[in-house]
Formats: sequence, C-alpha cells, structure tokens
Amino acid sequence: MARIVMKFGGTSVADLDRIRNVARHVQRETAAGNEVAVVVSAMAGETNRLVALCREAATIHDAREYDAVVSSGENVTSGLLAIVLQAMGIDARSWQGWQIPMRTDDAHGAARVEAIGTDVLSDRLSQGQVAVIAGFQGLSSLNRITTLGRGGSDTTAVAVAAALHADRCDIYTDVDGVYTTDPRIVRTARRLPRVSHEEMLEMASLGAKVLHVRAVELAMVHDVPVMVCSSFADPARPPVGTLITAEIDAMEQETVTSIAYARDEAQVTLRDVPDAPGVAYAVFGPLAEASIVVDMIVQNISEDGSATDITFTVPQSDFERAMAVVEAQRGTLGFGKLLGDTDVVKVSVIGIGMRSHAGVAATAFKALAERAINIRAITTSEIKISVLIDAAYTELAVRTLHAVYGLDKTP
Ligand code: ADP
Ligand code: ASP
Ligand code: MG
Repeated sequence: MARIVMKFGGTSVADLDRIRNVARHVQRETAAGNEVAVVVSAMAGETNRLVALCREAATIHDAREYDAVVSSGENVTSGLLAIVLQAMGIDARSWQGWQIPMRTDDAHGAARVEAIGTDVLSDRLSQGQVAVIAGFQGLSSLNRITTLGRGGSDTTAVAVAAALHADRCDIYTDVDGVYTTDPRIVRTARRLPRVSHEEMLEMASLGAKVLHVRAVELAMVHDVPVMVCSSFADPARPPVGTLITAEIDAMEQETVTSIAYARDEAQVTLRDVPDAPGVAYAVFGPLAEASIVVDMIVQNISEDGSATDITFTVPQSDFERAMAVVEAQRGTLGFGKLLGDTDVVKVSVIGIGMRSHAGVAATAFKALAERAINIRAITTSEIKISVLIDAAYTELAVRTLHAVYGLDKTP
C-alpha cells in the first residue's frame, strides 16, 4: 500500500466525460489499496475566461478580488470529481484551499505555499476516503483567497505530496511525459525517460509549461518523486511517463537535452543613451523599485565613447509599465528614442553537459544564421543559452536547434 498524489490538468478535466476518465485512473489506484489525494485544475479555458472577466470589469483591479474570481474554476472541478467518484461507489470529498488549510504568503496572483494542515486530511486518507483538492488556490495570513500563479496546480500537488509524505506524485497531463522540446511544435521531439531536477528547473523557468517552476523547486527540496504522464493512456494500466529525479548518470548525460521557448517576453530599447557611469543604474534602479523583473540585457559599445544603446526584456504583462517607468527617466537620462516590441520570443538551449563542452553556443548561432534568423539579444549561463528573436520565427528556430543538437528522434 502506498500514499499517492495524482494531479490532473485542465485538458484532463475539460468536460464530464474526461472527469469520468480521471475517476477511472483514481479507481485503479484505490482498488490497488493505495491512499489517494487528487489535485485538480479548472476545466480547460476556464481560468483564461475568468482572467478576461476581471480585465473587462476593470483594467486595473484589486489583486485580492482577482484571486477570489480566478480560483473558482478549481472549486467546480473538485466538486464534480468528488460527485463522479461517489457515483462509482468510491468514498470521496472535495477540499478547497481554505478548508485544508493551504496557507500561503500574501503575494496575490503569485503566492507561495507556506504550510499545509495535514492532520484531518491524513486521517481521512487512512480511513480510505479520497481527498479531491482544488489546485492553484490558498489562504493568506489575512484569510483572503490567494492563487499560486498560472499553472500553479502542479505546485499544489507537489506541496501536498511533500506535506503528506506521499510515496509518489503523478502529474497527469495531455502529453505522456517531458520531451526534448514541446511535442506540439516539433513532431520529432523525443520523450525523456528521466530528467534531473536541475534541468527540469531550467526548462520550466525558460518556458516549458509542462511543469510549474515552483513545483520542481518543491520536488527538489523535499525529495518528492514526481512523474509526468498522460491522463489519456489506458486507465486500467499503471502510468508510464517521465521521472523527475535528483541526478542522471553521467554516462547518460547528453550535452544538450532540450529546447524551450517563452512567448511571454517584451523588448525595450533605449537609443542614444549617454555612455557614462551610473546610466545602467538610472535605467534599472527605477524598474527594480517598480518590482519589474528584467531578464536579458544588452548594451552596445559606443563608437566614439559618447552615446550607446541599451536593450532589455521584461515579462509581457509588465511591458507597458516598464515603458512608462523608463519614459519617466527621460529628463534625468537624456536618451534619444525609446522603442518597444512585444512580438519577440526567447528560445533556449538547455543541458547540464554544456558545462564541460566548448562551442555549444557557436553551433546555435551558426544554425540560426543559416536560417537568416536575426538574434536581438543573448544570455547564457553554465547550463543554458537563450536568444531573443522575432516571434514569427519561433517554430523554425525551435525545430532548427532541436535538429542541430541531434535531439530529433530517429525515424
Ligand atoms: P495541464 O493543463 O495538464 O497542466 P499544460 O498545458 O500546463 O497542461 O502543460 C502541458 C503542455 O506543455 C503540453 O501540452 C505541451 O504542449 C507543453 N510543453 C511545453 N514544453 C514541453 C516539453 N518539453 N515536454 C512536454 N510538454 C511540453
Ligand atoms: N487553472 C490554473 C491555470 O490555468 C492553474 C493550473 O491549471 O495549473 O493557470
Ligand atoms: Mg499546467
């Protein structure tokens, strides 16, 4: 007998038929004598619909009320799955975040899990009752409803698994594992049997939305065995997918293991900025004060030592604010033009093996040049290279890089 957490994403609970299918996966585990906690997302498209409603109600709105609204999609699916399980003769009840309680910090829209009440939950599980938990939501210190950020149900699942000392946390989604890149845009992508925490963390933070970044962080810190698998596989059979593990045998380690892309970037360029000490601080200080996270930064070398250009990226959701913050510095800085572009994408090449290999970046630049794809900005770390390019070239760039590093599956 094991204690397991099963998480089902939006497409897996998109309608009642799919919820019945989910119930069959749960039934397989309970029939095997396991204690089961299930974490569910909202039905596919529902969270987007709720976010749009908030924006329509008022462009600038109270983040606490936003959370009250957008968290509600998960209430519906947790209740529906409990009803379906009961109809199948399986003892089950739904749990909303506040009932557990799932305590978080007060950062509405991107809250962090702080503590989870496990006594009652644990008792119920040991009595054989299935706990159907609404993902994505929590409760702040002021008893307001919070949400964990888009894609945050994965984090609920891993946090619950850690708190309940579960033997496994299975993340059921619409693909059967983690691939060398998004299998929806590269058909030759290969499923990876195992991915190390370190690489999964990079993949998730560089745009591979198959797992929420904080879910990977929690799995790493609390040593929770996580598997990514498909809810569309036969519910009668145990799941097969990708295991997220501490480390991978050096023998198995390829130089580059995956390509990720993130559309959520926006570019800001300042032309003709005086080339003088303190300029970078004058640009990035006010952005930091406005809590805007700056990602890539490029500063050109000025030809005559007088004026330079500075380019940087921010999340698309902060683009307008970032432009306004920089514009407000025009008087102090005295730059020429301020340009912005949201039609950009960040494509990244990831692999722990890059640490010990030279020429990995040059391969990417050559391949992109051969396709006439212009690079607007570059950032690198020991285990990744990211380039900012025109959004129109996303698929071409991802496919090209996937092929050039030998990631395509053999036909
Ligand atoms: P869920 O609703 O189940 O949480 P998501 O849409 O959040 O599902 O995540 C699954 C999606 O992640 C897949 O449909 C796939 O398009 C995308 N994806 C991006 N990169 C990868 C990758 N490297 N491996 C697998 N899926 C990926
Ligand atoms: N429903 C939430 C979202 O769409 C959380 C999730 O699906 O993980 O972002
Ligand atoms: Mg998701």
